[in-house]
Amino acid sequence: MRFYMPTKVYEGEGIVLKKEKLFKELGKKALIVTGKTSAKKSGALDDVITVLNNCGIEYQIFSQVKANPPISQTLDGAKIGERADFVVAIGGGSPMDTAKGIAILLKHGSDNYIEKLFGKTDYDALPVIAIPTTSGTGSEVTPYSVFTDDKLKTKLSMPRRIFPLYSFIDIKYFMTMPTSVRNTTIMDALSHAIESIINLRSSAYSEVYAYKTLEIFSKHKDELMNDDIDKEALLDFVRASTFAGVAISQTGTSIPHALGYPITYQFGFPHGMANVTFMAEFFRVSPQDMVDKVLNAMGFESTAEFGEWIKKFITLTEERPPVKEEYLEDYAKLISEQPLKLKSHPIKLSHEDILEMYRNSVL
Ligand code: NAP
Ligand code: FE
Repeated sequence: MRFYMPTKVYEGEGIVLKKEKLFKELGKKALIVTGKTSAKKSGALDDVITVLNNCGIEYQIFSQVKANPPISQTLDGAKIGERADFVVAIGGGSPMDTAKGIAILLKHGSDNYIEKLFGKTDYDALPVIAIPTTSGTGSEVTPYSVFTDDKLKTKLSMPRRIFPLYSFIDIKYFMTMPTSVRNTTIMDALSHAIESIINLRSSAYSEVYAYKTLEIFSKHKDELMNDDIDKEALLDFVRASTFAGVAISQTGTSIPHALGYPITYQFGFPHGMANVTFMAEFFRVSPQDMVDKVLNAMGFESTAEFGEWIKKFITLTEERPPVKEEYLEDYAKLISEQPLKLKSHPIKLSHEDILEMYRNSVL
């Protein structure tokens, strides 16, 4: 067993402005990586620009990261960030993951970029500062980056391990999340916690973070059915997202993530909601003693009760993805071809088992 999470996490209101010195130590030129609007809306971009100006650090902004980013966005970002000494990512998982890929290309050059990001040889990266604005992916403390691959027609984890150097968490940046983004990202964090517990790589250390996430979910889950939640509950969920990120930084995710990727690819169905769509079926194919502990920590008495809650919650913000029986064989094949996530499950599952999980969850 090994527990390794090197990211230095700083949390508090106004934390970016208070930690100016940490930016200054990283060099003279920065690349800021964001989505289209949220970095500005949340106030995080203004704070970062203030700090960079105060420190006399030059910067460029790559503000084009799309949700579920295609791999090619790393190349676009690296072009804009030439000669940067470090990368500042502001936003949800999409900009944070993309920034990690860009930071590799800025350090090692963009030629053969697919090889550098996905090939056999390992590459490290320029320092990355991660400033999350969604309460779900935990990318601010994980070494992972997930990209959309148009050839494979699914989402793919980059095999490099790039932990951010610093992560700055300020509750203010999360207050502008629309309910749909808040809800789906909280479901992502919940699925991270569950998938890291029912996982062969789980340990007493990762479970501390995972169960804390479930405890927070249990405490506030009724409030989630409302449009507005109070600041205390939001802060708890923001922390839960980072805690669950620490848990998966040790264990990786598992089958619900794998099953959700093709549906997100085909229908744009949001990542967190895609994961929990498969959670009741994941419980059906998992060791009952593990499932009972997880249900108990979330405050549910049975998988059926949990499944009903999840269904009701998803329908608050999302339409059912129009999946058809004829798509399922391709989805299941994709999962058998990338067996890493299946390997971490305590029970061996067949191609037929995967098909059945799809049928029972999305038809
Ligand atoms: P996201 O794709 O980064 O953002 C979703 C939407 O929310 C965007 O439209 C974004 O707007 C908006 N938004 C973000 N923060 C906001 C705020 N504070 N106020 C208003 N709008 C805001 O969503 P995400 O769920 O955080 O990330 C999903 C990605 O992360 C997926 O690709 C998933 O596979 C990946 N992921 C990575 C890990 C990991 O460990 N690295 C783990 C799980 C998932 P803008 O476009 O304007 O920014
Ligand atoms: Fe996730």
